[in-house]
Amino acid sequence: MRKTALKKYKSWKHIPLALQIVIAIILAVILGTLLGSQSANNADLINHLVIPCNLILKALRALATPLIMLAILHSFLTADIPGKAGRRLAVLLLTNTTVAIFIGLFVANVLQPGSWGRLAPPVSKEALITKTFDPWSLIQDIVPDSVLKPLVDNNVIQLIFLALAFGIVLRGLKAQQISEDKTDYQVIEGVITILFAAVIRILHWIIALVPLAVFGIVAKTVALQGFAPFKALGAFILAVLLALFLQACYYLLRVKFGSWVKPKSLLRGGSEALLTAFSTASSTATTPITFEALLKKIGLRESSASLGALVGSNFNNDGTALYEAMSALFIAQVLGLHLSLPQQLIVVLTSIFASVGAAGIPEAGLVTMTLVFTSVGLPTEYIALLVTVDWFLDRCRTAINVMGDMTVSCLLDGKHRKV
Ligand code: ASP
Repeated sequence: MRKTALKKYKSWKHIPLALQIVIAIILAVILGTLLGSQSANNADLINHLVIPCNLILKALRALATPLIMLAILHSFLTADIPGKAGRRLAVLLLTNTTVAIFIGLFVANVLQPGSWGRLAPPVSKEALITKTFDPWSLIQDIVPDSVLKPLVDNNVIQLIFLALAFGIVLRGLKAQQISEDKTDYQVIEGVITILFAAVIRILHWIIALVPLAVFGIVAKTVALQGFAPFKALGAFILAVLLALFLQACYYLLRVKFGSWVKPKSLLRGGSEALLTAFSTASSTATTPITFEALLKKIGLRESSASLGALVGSNFNNDGTALYEAMSALFIAQVLGLHLSLPQQLIVVLTSIFASVGAAGIPEAGLVTMTLVFTSVGLPTEYIALLVTVDWFLDRCRTAINVMGDMTVSCLLDGKHRKV
């Protein structure tokens, strides 16, 4: 009996995650329709269906802070960033990410995908979205009261401030020790590397449970509210795809006017990297292919290729930033809440930080999204609804993340080809 269960589990494990989620959705729709026809009798069961989803979201929220902290420390300790080019890289990353977020917010404001369906907020509307944009308190808030507080409060801006401070210091210490022929830094580098790998492995366990969460949330939603919310999700997918497409056009324009590389060559030479990003949903896993494409197929200098593809890929996640900002706006729309312009500015800021902290692995954007939601007082339980479409949108935004890295490399290589 145990053996058959184990065998079944093993064969389930071999089904690709995307297919597992599709199966979960189909089964959930059937169950939800059956339960919905007698929702009064099944109220208890229907409400309990959401438990796995809540547990998974709690686990994602809990992992967000260590994941961001370790991803940033790991990047600072292991990446090779030369001074002047490093500053140019930082400016390029910041402008591209800001443009991505504005494109996302623009599309979400114009198309209003959330208005295609309605969900009831979990508490009264007045209790939600209490935070408004106050630049002075935001500046005062950057420095945490204690080192551990941002980790406990899930405060993304304070967390990144801390991570950057420690990252810069550790990097400086490492350089100093290398120049003095000392090796003490290797201990801390080793610890951070192994902890980072451990957090990613735990994240993989959680991701393996996502089909169960999707099953519960879809069955509950269908049973209680029918298919109306899914209409909104369809509109959301289209809106995100449009925004990502506009971001890709922006990249091509930047390359056309800021680099010797022709936009066509970028697309042709980088196609393999873009496809790999789409199929793995991991920009980190794609890194070697991106680097190779920039170097061999597009013909950039090694320094530009490595800065964009190897360093940039750690911090540069424009697709993720765009997606997080759009998701916040979408959920606010579905709940019938209005995010004012100042509140959307908070979304812009936290999305920049959250995308910097998102590791280049599948579903990392979903993890850091909890921090964006918390920053404007949006209920994070609605991220569950996005879990149902994230397996697909993750692939698309990862391709844009990789295209962003390639664009930065082309721009760093300059307007004239140097050999
Ligand atoms: N999967 C994305 C990447 O690897 C990150 C994300 O989830 O947004 O770049």
